[in-house]
Amino acid sequence: MRLADAPSLYAASADPVPVYPTLTEPVTADVAIIGGGFTGLSAALHLAERGVDAVVVEANSVGWGASGRNGGQLHSGQRRDQGWLESRFGRDDALRLWRLGEEAKALTLGLIARHRIDCDWRLGLIEAVHKPRLVAEERAYVDTLRDDYGYGAVEWLDREAVAAAIGTDCYHGGRLDNGAGHLDPLKFARGLARAAAGAGARIFEGSRATRVAKSGRWTVTTGKGSVAADIVLLAGNGYLDGIDDDTEAHVMPIDNYILATAPIGAGRPGGLIPSGAAVSDTRFVVYYFRPTADGRLLFGGGESYAPTERTDVAEFVTRHLLNVYPRLKGTKVDYAWGGRLAITMQRLPYIRRLRPGVYTAAGYSGQGVALAPFAGKLIADAIGGDTTRFDVFAGLPCPPFPGGRWLRYPALVAGMSWYALRDRL
Ligand SMILES: Cc1cc2nc3c(=O)[nH]c(=O)nc-3n(C[C@H](O)[C@H](O)[C@H](O)COP(=O)(O)OP(=O)(O)OC[C@H]3O[C@@H](n4cnc5c(N)ncnc54)[C@H](O)[C@@H]3O)c2cc1C
Repeated sequence: MRLADAPSLYAASADPVPVYPTLTEPVTADVAIIGGGFTGLSAALHLAERGVDAVVVEANSVGWGASGRNGGQLHSGQRRDQGWLESRFGRDDALRLWRLGEEAKALTLGLIARHRIDCDWRLGLIEAVHKPRLVAEERAYVDTLRDDYGYGAVEWLDREAVAAAIGTDCYHGGRLDNGAGHLDPLKFARGLARAAAGAGARIFEGSRATRVAKSGRWTVTTGKGSVAADIVLLAGNGYLDGIDDDTEAHVMPIDNYILATAPIGAGRPGGLIPSGAAVSDTRFVVYYFRPTADGRLLFGGGESYAPTERTDVAEFVTRHLLNVYPRLKGTKVDYAWGGRLAITMQRLPYIRRLRPGVYTAAGYSGQGVALAPFAGKLIADAIGGDTTRFDVFAGLPCPPFPGGRWLRYPALVAGMSWYALRDRL
């Protein structure tokens, strides 16, 4: 039976895909992976390619989580800019993290090419500046990337050039990154699943893990079956609820919302965003938007820090959309949906070996289109004995959220609301 996808433009427009069975019996594997998003599917693929017997248990359908619902923007670098990274870790480690970010981007693009994943990939991403006081700093960052990091794919766009590229004059300049871009994330997730299954990984949908326990080997118990394995990877990200206290203390789930308009010729000459680029801006609660392959505007903005999802998504996101494109007032919204990402205190991912045989990867803080498939590969490499890249991420500081798993929400709401207020000042 085909399980319901999370409602979104992506789910509504996707081609039929294979249905993976539900786990209904005890099975054994080398590695049990909880979660069938970018992280879990990439780990499964890279393990299977090494001849490791990997089983994915996915509570819903493949790509049901953030991976199949996100903005589809593939960014360069890490979620923190190089200046921030240099000030915390020094120039050498900042450079190492930049290069790993580039490897992550190349991995996503390489997977698309190698497995012929038709996911509407399009080059070009503009980081648009929403406050005049940020222009000098953002402009200087172009020079930093070009001169200090040897990244020539980036150029500065002044106010007029940004307006021409994206069809609104509300930004004060922007950084065009011709090495970044955008894609349809559900198509990418499903392509990863197809590649992983093709390489020999076993994928089970409708199979929520309810318990992870050790008795000799690790056992992951699901509703109707179980997986006994030497190694477990926790890849549930923002949806990993009640499975691992440690991961949940270090990452915070956040609901973020998107709408897609009716087709309006976006991304085409003479239409909105004629450059075809994706855009994300400098707000703390980022606005991100892009044209889709069928000429819609897909716009994300606005977050909720409450443990429950909001129900007025179209109205909520439209309020943000009109701050950028007032002329779209009255434009039909065909789809509106939310998804749950996970952030960390430092906005750097939480990738760890928690205890012998248990790995976790989560908290990509809005940078998971590049970093989540990469994390899956790094963990597959680490399991195979090459910990070089894994160790860099595992060594990044990631303090737990104040209040731990249960009390983290009130502290977060207070902190985030303050920053959201600053966006408006
Ligand atoms: C609205 C939105 C917009 C975003 N936009 C962007 C963007 O433009 N660019 C970018 O880089 N990043 C973006 N992100 C973040 C990005 O989507 C994530 O970082 C990335 O998809 C994380 O992948 P994942 O595989 O770790 O987690 P997920 O894709 O969330 O997958 C986790 C999976 O685990 C399953 N699961 C959880 N618990 C269990 C269990 N107990 N048993 C079995 N299965 C379980 C869930 O059903 C889910 O399918 C966005 C996220 C959201 C929500």
